[in-house]
Amino acid sequence: NLDDSIVAVDKASEDVFMGEPDVSFFGCDGEDDKTSADYCFDSYSHFGIHEEMLKDVVRTKTYQNVIYRNKFLFQNKVVLDVGAGTGILSLFCAKAGAAHVYAVECSHMADMAKQIVETNGLPDVVTVLKGKIEEIELPVAKVDIIISEWMGYFLLFENMLNTVLYARDKWLVIDDEVVLPDEASLYLTAIEDADYKDDKIEFWNNVYGFDMSCIKKQAMMEPFVDTVDQKQIVTNCHLLKTMDISKMVPGDASFTASFKLIAERDDYIHAFVAYFDVSFTKCHKLMGFSTGPRSRATHWKQTVLYLEDVLTICEGETIIGSMTVAPNKKNPRDVDIMVKYSLSGRRCVVSRVQFYKMR
Ligand code: SAH
Repeated sequence: NLDDSIVAVDKASEDVFMGEPDVSFFGCDGEDDKTSADYCFDSYSHFGIHEEMLKDVVRTKTYQNVIYRNKFLFQNKVVLDVGAGTGILSLFCAKAGAAHVYAVECSHMADMAKQIVETNGLPDVVTVLKGKIEEIELPVAKVDIIISEWMGYFLLFENMLNTVLYARDKWLVIDDEVVLPDEASLYLTAIEDADYKDDKIEFWNNVYGFDMSCIKKQAMMEPFVDTVDQKQIVTNCHLLKTMDISKMVPGDASFTASFKLIAERDDYIHAFVAYFDVSFTKCHKLMGFSTGPRSRATHWKQTVLYLEDVLTICEGETIIGSMTVAPNKKNPRDVDIMVKYSLSGRRCVVSRVQFYKMR
């Protein structure tokens, strides 16, 4: 009975507010005086995000397989784990025979990682250091291997790549370098997405009878992180950019890449979809994973960029364009994206520039 349950909820909430609040619980003192502006003490301090990453088996199993099936890379080597989180990658490396692993983590999760290393009997092999890579001092001058899981939504969101490049330039032994993973590629395709575009964008036209369409502009500018069904894909997938993590410079994460998307059937196009692959080319056999819509889902899902117009495209017709990607000048963790595209088809002629911001 619905009425009963409402009463029950009210009673429960009364109970919650009966006692005196424990002020210390709200983090008014101690080291917990974090601000959301300081990303290191933000979401990564909570176990929830680490649970999500660990349960992403495509992600975590790939790293585990890379390490366990390529022990020759790790044996007697000194490893740096950039952004260790719970320490999982460091534990894998220790099990694979690394001489020593430095696990650097800036969030409060570092305290847990220390305990986890102890509990699992590996304190002689794994040293957890709490702090930012950019500020920490390592007890050694050089390391043999850098391992990191730095990839963000749309590959580059959160800009942790720069942290890996910083670590590479500071500590890696140049003549025998191994960065894991060492390749990341960004792809673009185009999808039919009428239902979801209605739900996310057109929704604002009529909200309980009111016109909130002014929000549509903002909604359009924000890429949506979501899983795309492969049946929605209308065109080929175009490789936009491959980054060589062992050689690139930070500036290479800002780029303009042209694309050509050819329709594989008659359909409507509502959005571009971006996704990435990562590869570990130093393995005995090439290993890696894809976050694309044709691969098993990961927590990165895909990134959907809605188009102002609906494109009516015929099989064989081509959308040509370019995508410009750069970290935001004010907040380098955000990513600015500009897409220029044009279609000159039998049923549709469109040429446009659209701006997006990942934040
Ligand atoms: N390696 C772990 C966690 C990956 S998430 C795993 O694979 O499960 C990335 C981690 O890097 C987060 O815990 C984040 O707090 C940390 N991190 C991000 N920037 C960092 C920096 N500049 N210095 C140290 N750690 C950083």
